[in-house]
Amino acid sequence: MHSSFFSPGPTTTEGQTASLHLSRDQLLPVKLSTIASKAEDQGYAEGVVTNTRFGSFPHSTLIDIPWGCQVLASKVDTGTRGRESFNQSRKRKANAISTDSPNDSAESAALKQATTATSGFIHVLPPTPESWTTSLPHRTQVVYTPDYSYVLQKIRAQPGSTLIEAGSGSGSFTHAAARAVFQGERPEEGREPTQGQKQSTGKVLTFEFHKERYEKVETEMREHGLDSIVTATHRDVYRDGFWLKEADGSYRSPNANCIFLDLPAPWEALPHLTRQGRPEKPSALDPSTTAYICTFSPCIEQVQKTVSTMRRHGWLEIEMVEIQHKRIEVKREYTGLKYEGMRGVNPVAATVDEALDRLREVEANAKEHQRDTTGKSNKGKNGSQQNSSTESAVQKHWDEGILIHRAEPELKTHTSYLVFAILPREWTEEDEQAAIAQVRHDG
Ligand code: SAM
Repeated sequence: MHSSFFSPGPTTTEGQTASLHLSRDQLLPVKLSTIASKAEDQGYAEGVVTNTRFGSFPHSTLIDIPWGCQVLASKVDTGTRGRESFNQSRKRKANAISTDSPNDSAESAALKQATTATSGFIHVLPPTPESWTTSLPHRTQVVYTPDYSYVLQKIRAQPGSTLIEAGSGSGSFTHAAARAVFQGERPEEGREPTQGQKQSTGKVLTFEFHKERYEKVETEMREHGLDSIVTATHRDVYRDGFWLKEADGSYRSPNANCIFLDLPAPWEALPHLTRQGRPEKPSALDPSTTAYICTFSPCIEQVQKTVSTMRRHGWLEIEMVEIQHKRIEVKREYTGLKYEGMRGVNPVAATVDEALDRLREVEANAKEHQRDTTGKSNKGKNGSQQNSSTESAVQKHWDEGILIHRAEPELKTHTSYLVFAILPREWTEEDEQAAIAQVRHDG
């Protein structure tokens, strides 16, 4: 399997998907290609160009370079100039990659410097499910990283699992699910996976009844090199369930262990997810393992219907969770000084001396107040010891900065109710007899 998501290789290649890192919160997914296929790419002498607010990036400067490189923007020609020769294009690329090389010629170093001074830059990163989620073309509401990371671990998605997903929507969850079931221990670069590695690679079966969305997900899986893991099916799962149809018209069980339903009415799909199966159709679940399910619904009324249908079909350990994800940014701030003892004083001081002066002022006021109220004096040895310990505490706070924290409000997460449940493995009379025999044998 060759996927720029899971095994991108050491360098970028023609046809791969890359994530262009423009800034901390701005990633742009692009298909790397020097061959213009879309009308908007036709006008450039340089071939395909990605234009960003940090400048223009001909794909000839993004292909065949190590992943992670910083690439400087290029001046592009919208067709008035002739097409670059291959050597000119190589030279442009050498100049655009900003990693300094001891072998740089004086000419290329000078060119590089001139470009650096005038242009913006981006970093070319291999895509991940997380970067894809933040930048994918939205066709529906999507499941975001804080939700899908929790869901995938709760439904025990792991290398070798067979995971059913409905509906596919924009394919956000699909990418993360593909990684979860994919064999974690990857073969060394350039080597074929061992038999064991091949065997434990699982499957994602994703179902979508909206034709264009189904087609888009299927194309994306192929383009991202994930089609050996993910099978997209165009189907109304309320009506037709999750069985796989063979060429001869018969039905095969997908033998699923994990299920994720992001559907408007998950309870309508649940009758297809029982241990018994349906006439002429085997159960869609793997009879030898516990099945783990999660449904994702924005309204509590949907949850109520889902939970009662789950109960009717024998699902156990039903629970509902709402993810309220908030990232807390903790850092040290050096712009001022805050000190516990400085209550009642403006806590920001411009210099250490100013802070100490204020602190002494506060302490003098406090002592004055204490003398007034108790009639006792705090002067003497004890008082000066207190002063020096205060000074060293202030100096320490000044040197290290103070810890502050603030919540990041803009983190994207679509809050919904997550319902989890499990269906124990099938247990037949033969299983019971075999277990009894085993216990007797073990003595
Ligand atoms: N989880 C997806 C993601 O992360 O991108 C988003 C799923 S979207 C909210 C719900 C999808 O379910 C829609 O694309 C819709 O067309 C599909 N859907 C609704 N009813 C369906 C049905 N009966 N069978 C299959 N898909 C269905």
